[in-house]
Amino acid sequence: MGKAIKLTDGFGRTATDLRVSLTDRCNLRCSYCMPPEGLDWLPNPELLTDDELLRLLNVAVTRLGVTQVRFTGGEPLLRKGLVGIVARAAALTPRPELSLTTNGIGLARLAEPLREAGLDRVNVSLDTLTGPTFVQLARRDRLADVLAGMAAAAAAGLTPVKVNAVLMRGVNDHEAVPLLRFCLEHGYQLRFIEQMPLDAQHGWRRAEMVTADEIMAALSEEYVLKPDDTADRGAAPAEAFLVDGGPARVGIIASVTRPFCGSCDRVRLTADGQVRNCLFAREESDLRGLLRSGAPDDKLASAWQLAVARKLPGHGINDPGFLQPARPMSAIGG
Ligand code: SAM
Repeated sequence: MGKAIKLTDGFGRTATDLRVSLTDRCNLRCSYCMPPEGLDWLPNPELLTDDELLRLLNVAVTRLGVTQVRFTGGEPLLRKGLVGIVARAAALTPRPELSLTTNGIGLARLAEPLREAGLDRVNVSLDTLTGPTFVQLARRDRLADVLAGMAAAAAAGLTPVKVNAVLMRGVNDHEAVPLLRFCLEHGYQLRFIEQMPLDAQHGWRRAEMVTADEIMAALSEEYVLKPDDTADRGAAPAEAFLVDGGPARVGIIASVTRPFCGSCDRVRLTADGQVRNCLFAREESDLRGLLRSGAPDDKLASAWQLAVARKLPGHGINDPGFLQPARPMSAIGG
């Protein structure tokens, strides 16, 4: 094994949490993410193969101090060979913690095999509990599949099942309380995510975004929420609140109104092998090119380290000169 180095940036943050996009494709068309017609998907030859991906994961884990790997996309359950990828990632030494962010479609079938392969946890995205609103938001009639997927994940022990919800003004912003009630009843951990300017259509408008304060106000009409001081937030993106004295909690990821860049410990690898040091980065570092040109692990590790070293202090969404990154969320890996 080569010399261990860390993924530390110029502001003293160290990335240990790797988000890996397995595909940019998705079987939903959530309006805050992509247009109804979908996008021009990455051509297959541009995607990292399973072997290439595992080679990079091995570098990350053995040489760069990555301890957590989250598979995402696009929709990661659409990636052929996903169960095998998870099994090979679980066999790495030191073994990283393995999680998956998914829309839940297909999870009813895959939860058990993924658990057996070594997956530890899942986050499932669920923005509404009503069928027509689901169709309006995601432009597909798949709510029942998502709910079945969540139940299967819990039954398979992929716990805690975390639920990600994005509220859209005039669409599902009246569902904060019903979503929390549903998650409390099922033992799922709900986190609301503020809508971010990462949609392919560039349709995000600050004034239309449902803010963390508004979400808190809506939830507080039904529940008593107290900041959860029992756990150090660390690098967790969600601010956690105890619900009615706990132990149940709800989280709010206020990326726009209360950015948490100062404690960020994340780095991203796109499905086509580009390192991104931030969701909002405007530059990427090409590991796939290096890999395909025959670079040894040392060289891959130092290119990766350099990519993180250049990380900016913050995502800049609130700066007057903010420019949305060229790639949308689905192609970066959310
Ligand atoms: N397809 C998977 C899913 O639905 O969870 C994984 C990828 S998706 C891009 C990851 C998360 O990003 C989802 O919870 C989704 O709701 C969230 N997301 C997508 N676009 C967003 C945006 N513009 N602002 C905030 N969250 C967004």
